[in-house]
Amino acid sequence: MSPFDLSGRVAAVTGANTGIGQGIALALAQAGADVALIGRTPAEETAAHIRALGRRAEIVPADLSTIAPVTGVVDAVVEGLGKLDILVNNAGIIRRADAVDFTEEDWDAVIDTNLKSVFFLCQAAGRHMLARGSGRIINIASMLTFQGGIRVPSYTASKSGVGGLTKLLANEWAARGVNVNAIAPGYIATNNTAALQADEARDRAIRERIPAGDWGRPEDLGGAAVFLASDAARYVHGHILAVDGGWLAR
Ligand code: NAP
Repeated sequence: MSPFDLSGRVAAVTGANTGIGQGIALALAQAGADVALIGRTPAEETAAHIRALGRRAEIVPADLSTIAPVTGVVDAVVEGLGKLDILVNNAGIIRRADAVDFTEEDWDAVIDTNLKSVFFLCQAAGRHMLARGSGRIINIASMLTFQGGIRVPSYTASKSGVGGLTKLLANEWAARGVNVNAIAPGYIATNNTAALQADEARDRAIRERIPAGDWGRPEDLGGAAVFLASDAARYVHGHILAVDGGWLAR
């Protein structure tokens, strides 16, 4: 059997109705996993694709702007699909404004969704996985886990925090059968980057700086997610895997 095979595993992906989350959910299903789709917009299209692949898909409604739904979400996945082997913390938002004008509302909204809910979802899933002695958590980081960015102070803080949390959880859980890693996407064409893509000057500057020469696509993240979720990554812990067309190498 391929070490990348995910047959019989249950994955949960947050924010899987569109963009990177959709790309990752489909890749996990293609590798054999059943997938719970957690989010505030029902991921009907993603679920239909997964079922067409012969895998089970379960839509779990949750608004992750607060941690209120977190415990219930993990319970719902276990109830619906029997267990939880793989959690992908993908849901995230971004707010753009000059640092000098940045509001508390834009700070709190991004930190609450991108960092606080991510930690408490890791905790809720981690409790289930640690009790079973196995599990995989994959957090979605960013280039701004490594770099400063511009006009996105709460996003940079949240994604830098996601990198730190990923390493902390790996330190605590690696010996207990739970692998915690992250994927740092480069510049991927999704709703999240629509404003940058629409800005001709920024779009050109970004393309020119990417060694691969173009924006990535949501499906480009699938291979990294399957790898980190699979037996092939048994000894990989606390790693932040860049899938960035070479951006960080520049
Ligand atoms: P996207 O197309 O805007 O998708 C974001 C996803 O998160 C959507 O499914 C969205 O649901 C969900 N979400 C947002 N707030 C939520 C909430 N309160 N509760 C539940 N779900 C919520 O953006 P994307 O580019 O695919 O982003 C996915 C992840 O990758 C994010 O963490 C983002 O920061 C990260 N990332 C993206 C890039 C990039 O270049 N695109 C680069 C690095 C990292 P709705 O559709 O209901 O809003």
